[in-house]
Amino acid sequence: MKKEKWYFPKYYPSFACKADACRNTCCSSWRIPVSKEEFHRLVTMECSKNLNRRIQNAFIVPEVVTDEVYRYISFNWLGQCPIQEKGLCYLHREKGEEFLPKICRLYPRSLKRIGNYNVACCSSSCERVVEILYDYDDLEIVTEQMEETPQVFYSISYDGFRQIRSFQKILQDRSTTLLQSIIDICKIINDDEFDRDYDSDEDPLSAAILLLKRFSESNQILGKICDIVSERYGNDPSLYEKDRDAFEEAFPDWMTFFERVINNSMFYECFPFVDERADQTQVYKGLCICYGLLRLLCIANTYKDHRKDDLVDAVSSLFHLIDHTTFYYNVSLISGNAAIFLKL
Ligand code: SF4
Repeated sequence: MKKEKWYFPKYYPSFACKADACRNTCCSSWRIPVSKEEFHRLVTMECSKNLNRRIQNAFIVPEVVTDEVYRYISFNWLGQCPIQEKGLCYLHREKGEEFLPKICRLYPRSLKRIGNYNVACCSSSCERVVEILYDYDDLEIVTEQMEETPQVFYSISYDGFRQIRSFQKILQDRSTTLLQSIIDICKIINDDEFDRDYDSDEDPLSAAILLLKRFSESNQILGKICDIVSERYGNDPSLYEKDRDAFEEAFPDWMTFFERVINNSMFYECFPFVDERADQTQVYKGLCICYGLLRLLCIANTYKDHRKDDLVDAVSSLFHLIDHTTFYYNVSLISGNAAIFLKL
């Protein structure tokens, strides 16, 4: 295979899955699509009786069948992929990585061709990636010749790629706050609409609680944190200010950590070209909501004893939603004054 130049965060080559040490494995509660070719290969391959039994019971038919989404991997009674047990994948162990469905082989990585550029990144929905970002100081993007094959193609011009990189640099500017950096990005995209949005009198906490109700089914951890948010702050909004102060004291580096996870997701999603249906104004609204929900969910999930694991779980559950659904497009349609989320 020919080597090509790739852009990627410095941590990318050293990422390693935590396997059975993972608290919230991606083999649980995820709708994993399998293509027609992969499905036929798996159900007819030579393997042990145990693996064959697991595979024959592993698929359900989607509502709309296509060659790319031909089956979904079903869940066992624990809500997990039936081919694995306690995080150990029997298919991987017996047949090797090359036999895994494409999505399992790749996750949490993404390999994109953006115009003439190759971009590799890992999603902040994986708890190991979030732990790496917690320990890193900076999301440094480096280049190297690599033998990788792009899986997703975006027709973005040279100027588009420069815009992706320039927004990243604004976010990384530590001479100002993360909040101000996000405001600067939003104002570059749509100054007038952002000001109108931001000056609204709407209460951000009530708006966020309402919005989270729409997402509580997205994944189990997110659902659990949504319940904490609505029970704790829905009844007594003053508790949010108290928890927010305690959070910032317990995690004094919260701002640079949030900068890295948001930046990582922006790079993963090619912000502001995240969804071809969403224009840039809709996309800036998604960024405001991402920042606000990130604060709210992390504050709510750590208020009891400020454990790092709870912080990581809150981040990965939110980016499970952001990185793997049409989040930016959806929130821009259902939220009113999205910029008020920056006040959370
Ligand atoms: S979420 Fe990340 S660390 Fe956990 S099992 Fe999946 S790839 Fe591995």
